[in-house]
Amino acid sequence: CGIIGYTPIEADRNVLDVVLDGLSDLEYRGYDSAGVAIADSSVSVYKRNGELSELEAAIPDRSPGGDAGIGHTRWSTHGPPTDENAHPHTGCDGSVAVVHNGIIENYRALRADLEAAGHVFESQTDTEVIPHLIEAALDQGADAGTAFRRAIDRLEGSFAVAAVFSDTEGVYAARHQSPLVLGLGDDGYHLASDVPAFLDHTDRVVYLEDGQFAKISPSGVEISDERGTLVDMPVRTVEWDP
Ligand code: GLU
Repeated sequence: CGIIGYTPIEADRNVLDVVLDGLSDLEYRGYDSAGVAIADSSVSVYKRNGELSELEAAIPDRSPGGDAGIGHTRWSTHGPPTDENAHPHTGCDGSVAVVHNGIIENYRALRADLEAAGHVFESQTDTEVIPHLIEAALDQGADAGTAFRRAIDRLEGSFAVAAVFSDTEGVYAARHQSPLVLGLGDDGYHLASDVPAFLDHTDRVVYLEDGQFAKISPSGVEISDERGTLVDMPVRTVEWDP
């Protein structure tokens, strides 16, 4: 199982191809389902139970474009492997898509609160509370970064999470007891559970620490701590024998 995020520096890259290639480089970790979300003025989500080839067959249009993308290979913990339970998950209005590795321990209580507030769920996963929490914060007027942080602050458990938004640059991510690494490429910025996902593009990496947040966008990488203070993290060059 693994997550991926990518944002190109220049438009007209094929975001979908980069994300799908990265997912195939994470196949060695094992998975039962896979999915991607590509964001520009809207968010397009494709996801399938089964092999990556089934996901690829379900994607109608492979033409270049997209401002940001995320991808996921799922190893189910909550909810059987089905198309509906595959990631990315969205809220009600489709303005945000989320991928997650790990387990949200308090998802039942969060889901009950959200359902009482009118949110309609489509899956049996623990993960789906995250896009609904983000959407609830957006509805209260928060911007994407604030909404993402507010949602993450509500979670208990282990997670690496990445999200894309419509009409919003970049990919937002956070980690707590699950690995997450950023890749600084010449053509764009990457994030993933593990380095092989983007090693074709760059060997310059930043390992996020537990509790940190990151945003990758065409203007660069921003890392902040639990309280929202920006932090400088060392850039390392990895040596990797595939
Ligand atoms: N707990 C989540 C699910 O069952 C994520 C599993 C994973 O790490 O792939 O959908």
